[in-house]
Amino acid sequence: MSTHLTTVAGVPVDTRHFIGGERVASTETFTDVSPIDGSVLAEVSRGTAMEAAAAVAAAKAAFPAWAATPRAERARLLHAIADGVERRLEELSLVETTDNGALLRSHRRGVMPRVAHNFRFFANWLLELDHEDFTTRGHTNHVTWDPAGPCVLITPWNAPLMLATWKVAPALAAGDTVVLKPAEWSPLTASLLADIAAEAGLPAGVLNVVQGYGSEVGDPLTAHPDVRRISFTGSVPTARHIAASAAANLTPLSLELGGKSPLLVFADADLDLAAGLAVEQYDNAGQVCLAATRILVEAPVAEEFTRRFTEKAAALRQGDPREETTDIGPTIHPRQLEKIDGFVRRALEAGARAVIGGHRGEGQYYVPTLLTDVRQDSEIVQEEVFGPVLTLQTFEDEDEAVRLANDTRFGLAATVATGDAERAARVTARLVAGTVWVNCFFVRDLKAPFGGSRHSGVGREGGTWSFDFYCDVKNTVTAP
Ligand code: NAD
Repeated sequence: MSTHLTTVAGVPVDTRHFIGGERVASTETFTDVSPIDGSVLAEVSRGTAMEAAAAVAAAKAAFPAWAATPRAERARLLHAIADGVERRLEELSLVETTDNGALLRSHRRGVMPRVAHNFRFFANWLLELDHEDFTTRGHTNHVTWDPAGPCVLITPWNAPLMLATWKVAPALAAGDTVVLKPAEWSPLTASLLADIAAEAGLPAGVLNVVQGYGSEVGDPLTAHPDVRRISFTGSVPTARHIAASAAANLTPLSLELGGKSPLLVFADADLDLAAGLAVEQYDNAGQVCLAATRILVEAPVAEEFTRRFTEKAAALRQGDPREETTDIGPTIHPRQLEKIDGFVRRALEAGARAVIGGHRGEGQYYVPTLLTDVRQDSEIVQEEVFGPVLTLQTFEDEDEAVRLANDTRFGLAATVATGDAERAARVTARLVAGTVWVNCFFVRDLKAPFGGSRHSGVGREGGTWSFDFYCDVKNTVTAP
């Protein structure tokens, strides 16, 4: 057996890059560790500028034939990839959980079926993607979505395959070729995706996967002049760096970044529902970009809301994410745990009070935390923690609720709990957010636009918005 094959949760995974249809090793490796127990999972190829250049060259070489492949055939291949994901759903779930510590039951029942759906959805949308011809002084306007070229797709560790395929599927459907660079803390399922795509018959070079650190292999990818699109999901500091690299080549960018989203609870809300929505924010140990981490409650119901919230939070079971009964798993990495702990310690020193939690658990776990007595301009209210840490503030009226909700540099999402539909409409209209949920959370249709305002991102993806981004949209005007 090759030394580049590792076995994770009983599943063989190739830890080399996948470039031009071949497995390619780097001379150096990096160590991939499981957040569940700190065990070493793999030594993974550590890409450099050399592998970045090879992957872009492979994507460039494969582009003309893939772009010319009829839509129906591209759609067929995307469905074949979805079939492969469904066939290997259990393996993908086991590997993802072992690699990033998110719940196995969520991977099995929610995430991996959704990964397959990402491919099916964009395959089907491609077949329906069409224009309406219209006339201007007798001339017809005919709009087409042309393939754009090689795309670099860079993704984070909190929902690795889900976020990767949310980009890979529309890019491939659009007729673009892809270089995917997964996060170094969760590199494994991207490698399995490369196998699945090859087995499905995707031509060599259409999907390439390179592994390694952002500064070593991500940087040369985003600075490459042959790359025609960069789609990035991750943190604001990395986004700034990537945007600067892209600027040199004027490479179009899509940026899905962090958040500090509010949950507004009005006195007329179903408080049980609102408390349930608040507790949901601990999912994936709070490592969710969309998480509504700032709970804003109308003052007269704050006490009752807090009572119901603590009751529900007390029922959460923290532990091994492979267990069916676990609700909250570990944080991804000792560095992330340190970061979370630092945020909370500084908040407590500044006068915050922990209603629940406020400290680490065992190993790499952080105890679900709710902090109150926090100032609007404090770090804990303004900065993304990316852990199971929520703050609670009160407001007196709608104006104050909206003012507090909008008063961060982010604008990814917001959740509004109210029993008054007119209030919901009024408040929603004033919120700065890419997605607003009213009396619900995390309901997402791939048809809908997804993205953030302000420092939460640039651009929207989803449905036609994805094709608008991954294509060169063209209008052809023909004389009568
Ligand atoms: P990160 O920015 O540290 O890393 C993300 C990816 O960028 C990784 O693959 C990393 O290797 C790569 N990278 C790092 N430096 C690079 C460089 N110089 N050039 C090119 N690539 C580089 O983010 P993270 O810690 O992995 O992820 C957490 C962040 O992602 C949070 O801020 C979270 O809110 C955000 N996020 C956003 C969404 C969304 O859809 N808006 C979804 C999930 C996560």
